[in-house]
Amino acid sequence: MALITKRVYGAEDVLPKDSYKWQFLEQLMRSEASAYGFKEIRTPVFEHTELFQRGVGDTTDIVQKEMYTFNTKGGTSLTLKPEGTAGAARALLEHALYNDGLPVKVYYITPCYRYEKKQANRYREFHQFGMETYGSESPAADAEMICAAQSIFDRLYIGDKLRLELNSIGCPECRAKYYEALKEYFSQYKDQLCETCLSRLERNPMRILDCKSPVCSEIAKGAPVVLDYICDDCKEHFEEVKSLLDSAGVKYSINPKIVRGLDYYTRTVFEFVTDELGAQGTVCGGGRYDGLIEELGGQHLPSLGFALGIERLLALLEAMGAEIPNNDECELYIATMGKRSQSKAFELLAQVRSTSMHAETDIVGRSLRAQMKYADKIGAKFSLVLGDNEIDSNKAELKNMESGEKTEISLDGRFLNEFISASAHNSAKAVFLNKEDKKD
Ligand code: ATP
Ligand code: MG
Repeated sequence: MALITKRVYGAEDVLPKDSYKWQFLEQLMRSEASAYGFKEIRTPVFEHTELFQRGVGDTTDIVQKEMYTFNTKGGTSLTLKPEGTAGAARALLEHALYNDGLPVKVYYITPCYRYEKKQANRYREFHQFGMETYGSESPAADAEMICAAQSIFDRLYIGDKLRLELNSIGCPECRAKYYEALKEYFSQYKDQLCETCLSRLERNPMRILDCKSPVCSEIAKGAPVVLDYICDDCKEHFEEVKSLLDSAGVKYSINPKIVRGLDYYTRTVFEFVTDELGAQGTVCGGGRYDGLIEELGGQHLPSLGFALGIERLLALLEAMGAEIPNNDECELYIATMGKRSQSKAFELLAQVRSTSMHAETDIVGRSLRAQMKYADKIGAKFSLVLGDNEIDSNKAELKNMESGEKTEISLDGRFLNEFISASAHNSAKAVFLNKEDKKD
């Protein structure tokens, strides 16, 4: 039978040698979200297609061009989630989470699926970390959301490598005037706009500002900017968000061109952008979507959130040469010689592993020399050899594989304590991230 060795175009494997990076980032995001009082929500990878048509908006690139939609055998149209917000909002409504008191604050880590052209840092299956707050109209919620995203970057020492760009796109009332201005402007270019944008001209002209086609984006450069059209309430909201960010020491710049790719955004929108990743420079994007829950059939429940692309964050860390701590590293390798030695090794390993430390021994029957080579290859920090002498005297030499330094270790009841103090001394050097990177 032919070997099937090709993964789906645009989808990536995370191989064992790299998975510690994902685990590290996921752990950091979870702990940051929890520090801000957000709890995890997990929703299915597919939803009814209509959820995204309504929740993401049917004038968006996502719904018009990028969804993986299919019919089940029973004839129901389902779609693989292209983003995390719609599913979270659906679950909020379905389980009436708002009854437990407001605000409801959730986060998610999820794969997303978009049928788009594969480019550097743009995939068809990718992963988002996102946070959502439901039930607050206050600018404090916007500021808290932005601070949370900033904290994640700060904890990775890349806070200063990303630009926070901020805009307000107003509410439906003040946007009506803006739409008129946009329609008037873009109507002059009807013969040049792409087909999708032509169809957007009447229904949602702001989407044209988000079009990736070179012609449309060139035309969009001269379009009226939304900040000139927002009403006094929206202005005041925006000012308060900025002032709270100032209080928190979060730096930002105003970019009146940001409109975000989803239909449901209102008022605050923001992006964290880097120049290190070429065209795919947006690592994180979010904002307020006060109309979303009503759009899905719920009550008026002002909400907001952001989504951060994990692949792009990893690519940025890599581009900067940041070292991600590897907790997969083997602390101890015990080399064995024969049955008696192997059985002693299993006894000692059970103790070390009971503390969740990573420790190994030979399980393929290698020679002693080959075992030591293997210990080196897997980067074991310490090793020890168990021969008859060692077992009889209850003492062995613990070798620091990096320095070559050897210390005596007892193989009796004192073994675990002695090993922990030896290895703790060693790991004191390990830092959270390469602090050298922080300086430049
Ligand atoms: P872009 O302008 O790059 O297409 P977007 O506006 O479509 O981004 P969002 O829907 O806001 O992106 O998704 C939030 C984040 O998810 C993005 O900032 C990015 O980091 C990441 N992301 C979006 N699409 C992809 C993709 N196809 N591959 C990898 N990451 C992605
Ligand atoms: Mg996109």
